[in-house]
Amino acid sequence: MADTKYIFVTGGVVSSLGKGIISASLGKLLQSRGYKVTIQKFDPYINIDPGTLNPYEHGECYVTVDGHEADLDLGHYERFLNVQTTRANNITTGRIYQSVINKERKGDYLGKTVQVIPHITDEIKRNVKLLGSKYKFDFVITEIGGTVGDIESLPFIESVRQLKWELGKNCLCIHLTYVPYIAAAKEYKTKPTQHSVKQLQELGIQPDILVLRTERGLKKDILHKVALFCNVAEDAVVQSIDVPTIYEVPLVLQKQNMDITVLKKMGLEVGPTPELTQWKAFLDKKHSAKETVKIGLVGKYVELQDAYKSIDESLLQAAIYNDRILDLHFIHSEKLSDENAAEQLAGMDGVLIAPGFGTRGIDGKFAAIKYARENNKPCLGICLGMQCMVIEFARNVLGLKDANSTEMEPNTPYKVIDMMEEQKNITNMGGSMRLGAYECVLKKGSKTFQAYKKTHIEERHRHRFEFNSSYKAQFEENGMMCTGENPETNLVEVVEIPQLNWFIGVQFHPEYSSTVENPNPLFVSFVKAAIENK
Ligand code: GLN
Repeated sequence: MADTKYIFVTGGVVSSLGKGIISASLGKLLQSRGYKVTIQKFDPYINIDPGTLNPYEHGECYVTVDGHEADLDLGHYERFLNVQTTRANNITTGRIYQSVINKERKGDYLGKTVQVIPHITDEIKRNVKLLGSKYKFDFVITEIGGTVGDIESLPFIESVRQLKWELGKNCLCIHLTYVPYIAAAKEYKTKPTQHSVKQLQELGIQPDILVLRTERGLKKDILHKVALFCNVAEDAVVQSIDVPTIYEVPLVLQKQNMDITVLKKMGLEVGPTPELTQWKAFLDKKHSAKETVKIGLVGKYVELQDAYKSIDESLLQAAIYNDRILDLHFIHSEKLSDENAAEQLAGMDGVLIAPGFGTRGIDGKFAAIKYARENNKPCLGICLGMQCMVIEFARNVLGLKDANSTEMEPNTPYKVIDMMEEQKNITNMGGSMRLGAYECVLKKGSKTFQAYKKTHIEERHRHRFEFNSSYKAQFEENGMMCTGENPETNLVEVVEIPQLNWFIGVQFHPEYSSTVENPNPLFVSFVKAAIENK
């Protein structure tokens, strides 16, 4: 395609309407027509990236292959498009300002007053266009975080206004709003949508397409009314009804020809409607599954919907590929102990020990691991989960009383998990962990090798501490094997107890690379083992 097309997705009325899923779904529809598509998220907060935020703020922190700590929407983009994102796909206000201020100090604006318009908006526009010019995408879909009208998103909205003017037909704006149902009046209300569009228009942007989020289906007259009041063509008003899984959304949009509307508005040939064969096969598998697989996820953020987003989605995908309905149970690690572990975990087919930081809830993780190990329950430990497997084994099998990670107890007599050498002199908290994809070589014959079916894999990391290799022999002599290592540094990345049916801890995060069309092999293998354990 000659020119890159830019699509902006804004949101109004309330947050949490699912701009990320709408962006990913539209991206999927365009991609299935043969276009090269990428999706980018702009977050209006001042943090340079979400790496230093706790999950209570914005849910899970996602990690890209190039080691960027990113908004969790990038996880949706990858799961839908099956294409990796990079640090160019997630930009915050903080990063925009940092880059402008660095340029100012270097003297790039010498003599000029540096201002929000044009300097900040130019920097925003440069970051939008970078994906088109440098990475040669046909479509760049840019999701603007927050809600229209927020003070902090104004420079982003202003940049979209300018780009719409500059790019003409190569630019399109989609606005996502909410149409509430007032039960007492038995009516849908379009006023919030009208107000939100008006607000966008006041900022100089006329949306080309409106997506109305609604719990139930909207009748034609409502869509007609919205079109009329908001200056949008009737076929450009799309409704997005609640569906049982986010993976149905592309089909919901396709049914309403949303991709065709986009193509027509941008002056592109429509062509035949794509079949979405693999996507539909995945959904068919989901719909035809009858039996469940019960997985217990042990972590300290279980009351938070989005804290373990990628793990939840990886488990769901793995269950579907194993022809099962996922029955996921969140088990609060702070409420788990040796006394109640059996009661809470006996009914689970498999147990997953979540990643994390700090001491809160750590004893519950040890209790869950001990129970799984002693009762031969399939168990997957991720990052901190893997480190806890190592500590539990050291304490209860090797007899190293009070063995610990130096993250939890700097003065532990047995530092079985210790800070990585290159981490010791780092003082900055942001972006300073071991981040991004690293190679790992798996031992032939190990369970992990059987899952991946190859010796060389690459998975993403996000941690400061590691398995202390000076204990390796002691662990292996007693039955916990180190079956995956980094080929350059020899850092231990995988531990297993081969004597058990399925007991694997990984220092990396397999959940970041699992997609609908390419589910992560370790999750698929874990869920399979859980089913066999039933
Ligand atoms: N807190 C551990 C570390 O920094 C584990 C991190 C994680 O689980 N992502 O090494």
